[in-house]
Amino acid sequence: MKVPFVDLVAQYNTIKNQIDSEIKNVILESAFIGGEYVRKFESDFSGYLNSNYFIGCANGTDSIEIILQALKIGSGDEVIVPALTWISTAEAVSNVGAKPVFVDINNDDFTISLEGIKGKISTKTKAIIPVHLYGKMAKIEELVELANKKNIYIIEDCAQAHGAQLNGKKAGTFGIAGSYSFYPGKNLGAYGDAGGICTNDELLAKKMRALANHGQPSKHTHLYIGRNSRLDGLQAAILSAKLKYINEWTARRIYIANEYRKQLSNNSKIILPKEDNLGSHVYHLFVIRCKDRNRKMEKLKKEGIEVAIHYPTPLPFVDCYKYLGYKHEDIPIAAKITEEIISLPIYPEMTSDMINYICDCLQN
Ligand SMILES: *Cc1c(COP(=O)(O)O)cnc(C)c1O
Repeated sequence: MKVPFVDLVAQYNTIKNQIDSEIKNVILESAFIGGEYVRKFESDFSGYLNSNYFIGCANGTDSIEIILQALKIGSGDEVIVPALTWISTAEAVSNVGAKPVFVDINNDDFTISLEGIKGKISTKTKAIIPVHLYGKMAKIEELVELANKKNIYIIEDCAQAHGAQLNGKKAGTFGIAGSYSFYPGKNLGAYGDAGGICTNDELLAKKMRALANHGQPSKHTHLYIGRNSRLDGLQAAILSAKLKYINEWTARRIYIANEYRKQLSNNSKIILPKEDNLGSHVYHLFVIRCKDRNRKMEKLKKEGIEVAIHYPTPLPFVDCYKYLGYKHEDIPIAAKITEEIISLPIYPEMTSDMINYICDCLQN
């Protein structure tokens, strides 16, 4: 049997008619940049998050940068980020001229360590960017409490956590702003690059919307030095069509995660992700740990199962951040985990046969 890591065509086939007609409408109305489809998705998604504002951007990396820029974070400032995440989280900090300060992750849920942060806050610290990694919400309430005490911002990187919630509040609505990515493979994915920002702060929302559109609060008024980072009409229309299914898709991801758990829990060589029945994990990725990781990956590949590693190298050790001089003992958990993790396929269109097959292959 062949099991791909993701299957975006399988998903498209389940909603083909709606997607095709949405695309056609955007073209026939020439609503390519701005316009009603972008406004509709922004309103649909802010409604979904229960956030006052949502600002579409070109991708989920620009969106982090725009939040930082709007908060006037730049040269001379420090921003705390987790040692294990996609490069965007740190890259955005560097690209506004600030310094990323890396903190280790928790051993159980892979998100940023609260204790680790406490030792890294300095007079230069302006913000913390917790990442809801793999779809699991970081310890966001404790982080907000700490940040409030220290008078620094919480910016949530929600690129992997569409629909994740804690006590009825969605990811992105705890801090000053939340950044979303709609990269095709994300839990809610466009058919190209797309991203956006949620916030409840009206003035910040206005500024970020202007920054994403050449610094213009209104046409030909360039109040700020901004950029071109707009969500386009085609992507917005596709995202609105797909948003109708996000709850169903998320439920299916959680179901698959539970199936993996059931079938793999008796295997003493595999460490499963921490259990969660509160909706604070939407399983963008199902990441297991095992000591003989490389042998297991070889075997799965041979059996036709595509797996991946998220991520093979902690960010302080990737080439472009080596200059910061982090050592193994600065981030021992991220350093250890990156040798042990495997991301198994998890997407709503997976069949029971596929799940059973993967679990069988993992048993020996
Ligand atoms: C995908 C992702 C982003 C942003 O990705 P884009 O490809 O720029 O949309 C940011 N942070 C994390 C953790 C991500 O996984």
